[in-house]
Amino acid sequence: MTVTFPLTFALTPSTDARAETEREEILADPGFGKHFTDHMVTIDWSVEAGWHDARVTPYGPLLLDPASSVLHYGQEIFEGLKAYRHADKSIWTFRPEKNAQRLQRSAHRLALPELSVADFIESVKQMIAIDGDWVPSAPETSLYLRPFMIANESFLGVRAAHKVSFYVIASPAGAYFADGVAPVKIWLSTEYSRAGRGGTGAAKCGGNYAASLLPQMEAYENGCAQVLFLDGETGSHIDELGGMNVFFVHGTDTLVTPRLTGSILEGVTRDSIMQLARDRGMTVEEREVTLGEWREGVASGAITEVFACGTAAVVTPIGQVKAKDFTIGDPDAPAGRITLSLRQELTDIQYGRVPDRHGWLT
Ligand code: PMP
Repeated sequence: MTVTFPLTFALTPSTDARAETEREEILADPGFGKHFTDHMVTIDWSVEAGWHDARVTPYGPLLLDPASSVLHYGQEIFEGLKAYRHADKSIWTFRPEKNAQRLQRSAHRLALPELSVADFIESVKQMIAIDGDWVPSAPETSLYLRPFMIANESFLGVRAAHKVSFYVIASPAGAYFADGVAPVKIWLSTEYSRAGRGGTGAAKCGGNYAASLLPQMEAYENGCAQVLFLDGETGSHIDELGGMNVFFVHGTDTLVTPRLTGSILEGVTRDSIMQLARDRGMTVEEREVTLGEWREGVASGAITEVFACGTAAVVTPIGQVKAKDFTIGDPDAPAGRITLSLRQELTDIQYGRVPDRHGWLT
């Protein structure tokens, strides 16, 4: 058994951190993923030394050797979670241990070293400790945290790198739906799939997202917000969206979501929504959902609501699915009642407006 001791972080504060006025100007309209806070976390790993040299430094460019393996073979994984400011000004993250565990699973699949849950959470705490002023306080805003890990060995042989680095950067995020939660249209990609059996679909690795960009462009060209992927093997059942999991409401008391097959990313929001639904006495089914079931369910009225969920947009109603030769649903139908109430309940917990009965906040 290897015993790992928690890392201690060395701090080098930034000497040119943004002034309060400049920061407040950014926080008034942060958008998403455009602005970054003044500091970052770095932890290095090598075969010989394991995880070492944990540090908080000024945010800035990485110096990478052109032969660095991540640039050639894409050995990279990442996470995404948010810090929320409560009314009493305190700052909370939502189930960060889930992200830490998922990063470990992604690391395993990509032949990268696992970072302990404790070190992952400590690195997030270090970021909040130094850049907490960057957590906005307007409704539905947050500080998006982006932990990521790259193979950082200067070596062109194709094998798992012997040198790796882990980083955390942070970016203030505005309200996703500033004018109320509106149903989106999604594009069904029939030509491209996101993951295959035994592939990396369940890992949060950059390559999955690179492969989703072309179908995502197709989605935009067809007036859709996101792309929906079918399973890569049979092409008959629903996997997930490019960056969100999918749920179907049947009647008023049953929630159905595609089961985890190894090609779907196990969302933290997905897991939380299932728990909240069970708490309400709803039946939750994780199973295969075919495209035919979706089409017939909407036509017969058996499926009453469809929504997508993920950290970035929380819960997003799906109005319509468009494909090359058919559509399902009505783009102008209002957001469903259960969709909206699950969204409300989840954000109430995240923003501290109701008691955190599951102990989800750190
Ligand atoms: N599926 C994919 C492909 C994603 O990128 C994400 C976002 N991480 C999700 C689902 C939702 O995961 P989470 O709820 O943890 O954000």
